[in-house]
Amino acid sequence: MLKRFDDTALEAFRPTLLLYNEASVIDKALEALFERLQLRLIQAEEAESLIEIAYETKVDFIFLSLESSVHEAMRILHYCEEVSELQMIPILVSMKSGEHALALQERFTNIDLFTLPLPLSRIEHRLGLYLKLIGKSYAYEQSKQMLHQQLRHIQAILNAQEEMLAVFSDEGIMLANSRFLHFFEVETLEEFLLEYDAFESTFIQEEESFVPQSHQHWITLLMALPNEERNVVIRNSRAAHHRFRVQIQSYTLDQIYYVVTLFDMTDLYLRSKTYERFAFYDLLTGVANRRKFEDRLEEQMSLSRRHGTPLSIMLFDLDHFKSINDTYGHDTGDAVLRSFAAALSKQVRKEDLFARWGGEEFIMLLVHTDQTHLPTIASKMLEAARTVTIDEHRSLTCSIGMASFHSDMDKHALIKKADDALYRAKANGRNRFEMNA
Ligand code: GH3
Ligand code: MG
Ligand code: MG
Repeated sequence: MLKRFDDTALEAFRPTLLLYNEASVIDKALEALFERLQLRLIQAEEAESLIEIAYETKVDFIFLSLESSVHEAMRILHYCEEVSELQMIPILVSMKSGEHALALQERFTNIDLFTLPLPLSRIEHRLGLYLKLIGKSYAYEQSKQMLHQQLRHIQAILNAQEEMLAVFSDEGIMLANSRFLHFFEVETLEEFLLEYDAFESTFIQEEESFVPQSHQHWITLLMALPNEERNVVIRNSRAAHHRFRVQIQSYTLDQIYYVVTLFDMTDLYLRSKTYERFAFYDLLTGVANRRKFEDRLEEQMSLSRRHGTPLSIMLFDLDHFKSINDTYGHDTGDAVLRSFAAALSKQVRKEDLFARWGGEEFIMLLVHTDQTHLPTIASKMLEAARTVTIDEHRSLTCSIGMASFHSDMDKHALIKKADDALYRAKANGRNRFEMNA
């Protein structure tokens, strides 16, 4: 889980070996040896850059693997001799031919010279000795342990948090606390990445929840939203959906990091949905209630005033409903109300609203609808009501009063107009509609 931080932070403490290899491939056994000694390996592509790199980077050893040219070796070693910063750096040279090696050794007494086949154990011994001398190995181990200790502290602090918490960089997730891992039922961050690929791929599209829709980074997109819209729904491995409010705090070190805290809002959200149902929906029939209807009506009336778009309402009253109650009892009356609401709801367009107005009266809001369209719709609604049967001889009927909105009306005037039309529909024989344009 902490691996990603180790690699970058500790690199500076690692003993570094600068390698110039005249042959195109590096000797596998030699490479393995460098790795065993935990050396950071920097390779110079050509002899010219060797000096430059050695000069710029803090290298601890130089290893020249020369194919043949003793001339080249002389040139490089000469230079190293002259640059004062490089004088303290041990130089190890491997050469093919023993003859050349002898010539070099005579001129440069301070270098370690090896000829092929490479005496690996001698090289290892030499490097080990230098490592000990510069004390860097020890320092590296020390810093490694110190860093691990500090990371354990950080991890413990993260784990002490009540909420799910993770740290991200632009490349992805870097750290996560135990609650986070526990939610996804994994032991480590590596395991998490293996199973889920990226954190944002666990987001599920649900009502009022965020899912990244563009190529932009999800944190950037989420931070652009107002606080109350920073909600994500995540499915855990037991397939339970959880809703979280996401809080993001950023800090900058070598790059930007984001501390992402996930507050589980599942219960609160469900409860608020229940309250909403109580507050805005009719419990008997499940359709919208009078309050929701009036809210929506006000909203649509102001839109209609602003844009001049047509708006109409329909008021429904069940015919002879008292006699249904009287004949079959109140419970059957309730069941009829439910069936009526269900049958008519099916006919309602998504942008319109069908609501219970009170008792056995219902009301419907029709947006972008003027009086010319109303008769067709009303006929359909009357037909839908008649699909509700009371007994084998009798179908339910209703009467409808309709009115269209004019910008100088308030909602009471509009409803009164529909109510007057409804009265006429009743008077004219029921199971019919009347309109007040
Ligand atoms: P009309 O055709 O003139 O409308 O005749 P009606 O019998 O429907 O007359 P009215 O509208 O006056 O009757 C409404 C009846 O609806 C009276 C009331 O007992 C009944 N009612 C109102 N709310 C409910 C309810 O929630 N459940 C049941 N079962 N009956 C209700
Ligand atoms: Mg009535
Ligand atoms: Mg009635």
